[in-house]
Amino acid sequence: QAEVLKKPEWIRVKAGSPTTRFYEIKDILRKNNLHTVCEEASCPNIGECFGKGTATFMIMGDKCTRRCPFCDVGHGRPDPLDVNEPLNLARTIAALRLKYVVITSVDRDDLRDGGSGHFVECIKNIRELSPETQIEILVPDFRGRDDRALEILKSAPPDVMNHNLETAPRLYKEARPGSDYQFSLNLLKKFKELHPNVPTKSGIMVGLGETDEEILQVMRDMRAHNIDMLTIGQYLAPTNSHLPVRRYVHPDTFKMFEEEAYKMGFTHAAVGAMVRSSYHADQQAHAAGV
Ligand code: SF4
Ligand code: SF4
Repeated sequence: QAEVLKKPEWIRVKAGSPTTRFYEIKDILRKNNLHTVCEEASCPNIGECFGKGTATFMIMGDKCTRRCPFCDVGHGRPDPLDVNEPLNLARTIAALRLKYVVITSVDRDDLRDGGSGHFVECIKNIRELSPETQIEILVPDFRGRDDRALEILKSAPPDVMNHNLETAPRLYKEARPGSDYQFSLNLLKKFKELHPNVPTKSGIMVGLGETDEEILQVMRDMRAHNIDMLTIGQYLAPTNSHLPVRRYVHPDTFKMFEEEAYKMGFTHAAVGAMVRSSYHADQQAHAAGV
C-alpha cells in the first residue's frame, strides 16, 4: 500500500455557495439525461463554472475502452451510440444559453471512426441551434484511426481542439496504457496543419511521479508540435485504488511553469493546483483570440 501524502493547505477548496443558475443547469441536465464531467468527476470548480454558463459534457456514454489508473471513468464494453444525443445536447445547450461548451468523450476504440463522426454531429447540431456558442472539443487520441478522424472533423471543425498529453512519456506505460506520447503530439500537429486558425490545446497533470524538468520538456514538445494553449493542474487520486499522488506541487513551482510557458510562446497557460483541462476554458479561448 502506497503512503498517502497529506494534502497541503493550498489544495483545500472553498465551496462557494451554489447560485440559482447552478440549480437551473442541474435541473435541465437531468431532464435531458445528459452527463457532465463537472458532476461525474465531482469537479471542485462546478459552482463557479455552472454559475458562469460553462460546462463540460461527456458524450458517447460513460464506459471507456481503456483503463488509465488515474481516471475515475468506468470501463467495459461501451453502449451503442445514442443517435439522438447530438440533437439532445444541442437543445440542452440552447436551453441553458451556454456561451462556451467543452465536449469530451471516453475512448471508443470499438468504433471504426473512434467516435469522430459523433463529435461532428454534435458540433453541427450545436452550430445550428446556438450559432454564437463557442465549442471546444477534448478528444481521445483516435489511435489507429487518426487520419479518418481528422478527415471527418474537416466538415465541422471546433473553435478549440483539445487533447491532453496528461503526463511525461516515461510514465505512459504506467499511467496511460494503450496510449502513445508521440502519437498524441502528432494528432494535434496534424490538426493544426489542416486548420491553422483553430487553436490547439493540451493539458498535463502533475503529481504522478514526474520531475519538474520532465514537465518543462513536455511543454517544449508541445510547442514543437505547434500547440497553442496549455493547462497544468495537480493530480488528485479519485480513490485509494487509483494511482497514488506522488507529490503536491507547490504554488511557486506552478508559477514557474506558467512563466516558462509564456516564454516558450503559448498564447495562454492555465496553470495551478486546481486547474482542470476545461477550467476557465472560455477565458483561455478569449486570450487565444477565439
Ligand atoms: Fe466542469 Fe471543467 Fe468547470 Fe470542472 S473545470 S466544473 S469539469 S467546466
Ligand atoms: Fe479515462 Fe480517458 Fe483513460 Fe478512458 S482514455 S480511462 S476516459 S483518461
